[in-house]
Amino acid sequence: MAVYIEERLCKGCGLCVRFCKHDVLRIGDRRNVKGYNVVEIAQLDRCKYCKLCEMNCPDFALYVEAEKKTKPKEKQKAK
Ligand code: SF4
Ligand code: SF4
Repeated sequence: MAVYIEERLCKGCGLCVRFCKHDVLRIGDRRNVKGYNVVEIAQLDRCKYCKLCEMNCPDFALYVEAEKKTKPKEKQKAK
């Protein structure tokens, strides 16, 4: 489980920060190639993997991986 940030796509609008109710994200000091201060992860341990940040980013700059992908072989075993 993880939150991935594609910094080159982020424009530092802060929408994801506002939608996250758990203070996981913040706008940091680092700038991307376009000169925008990009979002960064402040407290990943507080993340609930609700994907609200991902759904509300207008630039598709965030990606939340909530579950480990099951390998096809493992899936077959579970049947
Ligand atoms: S909503 Fe998207 S573009 Fe805006 S700060 Fe968050 S990641 Fe960056
Ligand atoms: S998945 Fe939910 S809790 Fe985690 S950073 Fe995004 S909005 Fe916050």
